[in-house]
Amino acid sequence: MSTRMLYPELGREYPVAVRAKGSYVYDAEGKSYLDGCSGAIVVNIGHGVPEIAEAIRAQVEKITFVTRLQFTNPQAERLAAELTALAPGDLGHVFFTNSGSEAIEAAMRLAFQYWQETGRPERTVMISRDGSYHGATLGAIGLSGHPNRRHTVRAVLPAWPRAAAANCYSCPFGLTRSTCGLDCARSIEDAILAAGPERVAAVVIEPVVGASGGAVPPPPGYLREVAAICRRHDVLLIADEVITGLGRTGHWFGCDEEGIVPDLLVLGKGLSAGYAPLGAVLLRDRVHDAIGAGSGQFSLGHTYAANPLSAAVGLAVLRYVREHDLPARARELGPRLAAGLRRVLRARGIQADVRGRGLLLAVDFSRPGEEPGITAAEVVRAARDAGLLLYPAGVTPVPQAVMVAPPLTITVAELDRLVDLFATALDTVRPRVAASLEG
Ligand code: PMP
Repeated sequence: MSTRMLYPELGREYPVAVRAKGSYVYDAEGKSYLDGCSGAIVVNIGHGVPEIAEAIRAQVEKITFVTRLQFTNPQAERLAAELTALAPGDLGHVFFTNSGSEAIEAAMRLAFQYWQETGRPERTVMISRDGSYHGATLGAIGLSGHPNRRHTVRAVLPAWPRAAAANCYSCPFGLTRSTCGLDCARSIEDAILAAGPERVAAVVIEPVVGASGGAVPPPPGYLREVAAICRRHDVLLIADEVITGLGRTGHWFGCDEEGIVPDLLVLGKGLSAGYAPLGAVLLRDRVHDAIGAGSGQFSLGHTYAANPLSAAVGLAVLRYVREHDLPARARELGPRLAAGLRRVLRARGIQADVRGRGLLLAVDFSRPGEEPGITAAEVVRAARDAGLLLYPAGVTPVPQAVMVAPPLTITVAELDRLVDLFATALDTVRPRVAASLEG
C-alpha cells in the first residue's frame, strides 16, 4: 500500500492490519498473526472485546468531550476513584493524559512544582537509569537512558545524571546473584550525592524494565532499597509503570512486588489496553497537598485529558481485568510460557536468557562480552513470516532481545502455539546466522 505517513523505516512495505480478535491480528491479505507482544505491550485484554465495544458505543451516545476548564465528568471521576482504590498506599489523586509520554511529562512537572511549592525551587535534577525508556516527547526522552532513541535530539537534551541499570544478566558491576550487594541501587545514591541531594527533584525507575532492556527485573530488594534511598535524601520517587501497571507482571502494579509506594506512579498502555489513547499519573497526598496548600493550581493542559470517552474505555477495561483476574492469570501463565521458550531454545542448543515477570517476558540472545549472533530484527522478521508478532528490545548497537508479552487473556492452547511458532522462527534464523558466522 502506498503511504503518505511516516513510519519507523521510510520506504519499507508494512503489512496492512485490517482486523483483530482475541489473540490474533489479521492483515489485508487474510494472513493471521498470533499477537505475541500485545501490539507494543498494550492490548492486555486481547483484541475486539465486545464489552469494550459496548462501553464505547454507550459513551458516544451520552457525551464524548468536555474541557476540564469547564466540567468534570462521571467517567473520569469514577476511573480516578477506582485507580486510587487499587493503587498502593496514599496514591490518592490522579491526573489523566493521552499517552505514557504525556504522563511522564506530567509526573516531571508535578515533581518540579512540588519543590517550588515547598520552597525548594533549586531541586531541578532528574535521575534516571542507563538503558531506560520513558517516552518520546523531549522531556521524556531527556529522561531516558536509551541511546538509540536519543541520538537525533541528543544535543538539546538536559545533562541529567544517570545511575547504573539494574540488570543481573549483564551486571554493570560484574557481579553474580550470589555476590550481588545491590550496587545498582547504591549507584542511585551515588548519583544523588554527586548532584547534591539539595538539587535533586526525583529519581525515576521502571519496576521491571520494558522493551528498552527486554523485560529486565531488578534483583530482589532493589525496589525497597531505592525507595529507602529516596526517603533518606528526601527525593521524590517516580515509578514508570506504563508497561508494568495494571496486571502485566502478575501484580496490579510492578511496585507491589516489594510493597513500595512511589510519590508519583505513571500509567499508560494497559490502562486502556489499546481501545483509546489514555495515560495517567497517580500522586501521593504529600505531592497533591503541597500544591493544594501552595498555589492551588496545576496548569498543565492537554485538550483531550480526562475526556469521557477514554475514561469510559478505561473503566470498562479495568472492570474486565478485575472480573477475569488478569494479574493472577499473568502470574500463572508466565512460568508456563517461559518454560516453553526455554525448552525450544535448549532443544536447538541456543544459549539465551529467558526472563521477566508474569507475562512480561523477553528472550535475550546477547552473550555479555561476545559479538552479536542472533539479532532481534531477524527473529522478529522470521516470527512475523511464521505468523507470530514479537517486539524487538535492547539498547545495544545491535538489539538482541525480543519481547514475548501476549495478551493476558491468551488461552493455554494459544500459548503453546506461540512457543511452536517461536521454534519455527528460530529454525529460520539459526541456519542464516550459522552461515554468516562461518562466512
Ligand atoms: N514508559 C515506558 C516504560 C514505556 O514502555 C513507554 C512506551 N513504550 C512509555 C513510557 C511512553 O509511552 P507512550 O508511547 O504511550 O507515549
